[in-house]
Amino acid sequence: MDARSAHHINVTQMDHGASHLAPDCAGQNFYRLDRGLRELLPLYLAPEDFGHLEPHFDRLGVLAGGRLDELARIADKHPPVVEARDRFGRDEDFIDYHGSYREMETIAFGDFQFHAMSHRGGCLGMDRPLSAVAKYALQYLFVQAEFGLMCPISVTDTSIHLIRKFAGKELQDYLLPKMLSADHAAMWKGTQFMTERAGGSDVGAIETTARFEDGEWRLFGDKWFCSHADADVALLLARPEGAEAGTKGLALFALPRRLKDGRRNAYRIVRLKDKLGTRSMASGEIKLEGAVAYLVGDIKAGLKQMMEQVNLSRLSHGVRAAAMMRRCLNEAMVCAQSRMAFGNTIINYPLLRRQLLKVTVPVEQSLSVFLFAASAMDRANAGDKDARAWLRILTPLLKFRACRDNIPVATGSMEVRGGNGYIEEWVNARLIRDAHIGVLWEGTSNINALDIITRAVAKNRAHGALGAVLGKLLDEAATLPPGFRGRLRATLNRALQFAERVAADGALEADARRAASGLYHVTSAVLMAWEASRPSVDARRALFARLALDNRLSAPDPLEPAALDWEGEAAELIFADHKVSLSEVAALLQA
Ligand SMILES: Cc1cc2nc3c(=O)[nH]c(=O)nc-3n(C[C@H](O)[C@H](O)[C@H](O)COP(=O)(O)OP(=O)(O)OC[C@H]3O[C@@H](n4cnc5c(N)ncnc54)[C@H](O)[C@@H]3O)c2cc1C
Repeated sequence: MDARSAHHINVTQMDHGASHLAPDCAGQNFYRLDRGLRELLPLYLAPEDFGHLEPHFDRLGVLAGGRLDELARIADKHPPVVEARDRFGRDEDFIDYHGSYREMETIAFGDFQFHAMSHRGGCLGMDRPLSAVAKYALQYLFVQAEFGLMCPISVTDTSIHLIRKFAGKELQDYLLPKMLSADHAAMWKGTQFMTERAGGSDVGAIETTARFEDGEWRLFGDKWFCSHADADVALLLARPEGAEAGTKGLALFALPRRLKDGRRNAYRIVRLKDKLGTRSMASGEIKLEGAVAYLVGDIKAGLKQMMEQVNLSRLSHGVRAAAMMRRCLNEAMVCAQSRMAFGNTIINYPLLRRQLLKVTVPVEQSLSVFLFAASAMDRANAGDKDARAWLRILTPLLKFRACRDNIPVATGSMEVRGGNGYIEEWVNARLIRDAHIGVLWEGTSNINALDIITRAVAKNRAHGALGAVLGKLLDEAATLPPGFRGRLRATLNRALQFAERVAADGALEADARRAASGLYHVTSAVLMAWEASRPSVDARRALFARLALDNRLSAPDPLEPAALDWEGEAAELIFADHKVSLSEVAALLQA
């Protein structure tokens, strides 16, 4: 026996068989791992922004695969608890968080200043606010490690937006310096409480009332789902006494946790929810007992104003689903490339590769749609009316479909890891638990699908603007094989027509989700094909576009082999390490 083999035996003996198990993504840089993101960011970001921010994407990629991931695992195991009184017996309720959650807050609010990056310069060395593309790309990297905390981060950001847009000057002067502070220890965080026992989807059923007495508004009622329950300021809807029933009678209020003299405002966190997922973050129930609140904006436009926050949250939820799906894919790939079964690495088995493709395609779809939606937001903010219409429809499309896709993707990724995927020591179990909230908060799937069909399509006609820009992108994608481009164009037209038909005919309401899914899938397919046609981008995105067409926009015969050998030649290209060119995939696109 030579020295090398002796060493080998020692290591194996110490290993106790651990090397049989596939590694996970611990220690990886989640930015570097993500070829799609790295190649697409320069398409959607201004070159100077990309140049300045890339080191921060890289740094967050390291954190997300490292310290943030460790903290997220610990925080999930040590959920917050609410205490009704302080140690002196005063009715000063507070939420006790584990130190791991506090450290994640420091990274988010202190180091990266997620809450302020859209609203002022001075974040990440920028002399102006970050673009929406940059902000959501950072959210996407963060959430690959920690999902729960993104709720308080995002809702603070969106609360600031509402205060800046709708509040009067006095209220702005009072709240904004605190909410935009770079000092994490002193800053005020925001949240949004709408849902009550009487209604979540049916917001008009809200029973909380607002009474104007002695020159101030006081709130009475119960809020049933309050995420980030101990926020410093909550935006909420209440009905001023005497206002009409339904959504038109609702006004928007800002509820501070503490009054100007430092006393606790008159509301209590009655208890925290014992939740399936998002366990690191506190969701509670709030009882309003005459709490002082400030009216925000037009007393008659409460819901309309609040919908701005809802829409911003919906976009962020789509990004969060994209992020969690990316984590699922990364975990599945790492495992598939090293787990052995029957003498072979499992990625070499055709059925396993098909499973991996089913995880891969929704991930890449959501990446393209969220980056395009974020760039539409940037253009809309700069005054582009068409882009405002794209954003109007892309927001609920992304929220609806990416959040739904997250669930089977999380389950599929677990299955690739086998039994260990079901065990809470590995991240897959948490990814499955967290995935499910996406189809509930900021509107269920039905509510988002109805928003798409009955409002974005029927009322706002936003699908027309979306169809026009997607058509232009197809014109630009001149290097795609003509047959494939034609197929994309024909499918786009059919999806638009179907959505229009469902929107025009109330009897077809039950088809709203199918029509919305069609719009999402074709949007993603056109975007991925266009991206693939850009010289700097890997052409396998066009293969993902074809997979979206084949598997999500057409009905293959279940009793015939698939039209294309996705387990063989196509999979070889998709899982190849090298950059793939359009000429390499051209025949597969035409097939
Ligand atoms: C962990 C957690 C945290 C949350 N945090 C917050 C928070 O911070 N702030 C907040 O305001 N809310 C929060 N929510 C509430 C969440 O937004 C609601 O639960 C959600 O909007 C659904 O409302 P609901 O529970 O009343 O269900 P319902 O509205 O009763 O819906 C029940 C079912 O009926 C369907 N339905 C309703 N209307 C229609 C229709 N017209 N057509 C077809 N189907 C319909 C829905 O799709 C759903 O499947 C949270 C929820 C959870 C679980």
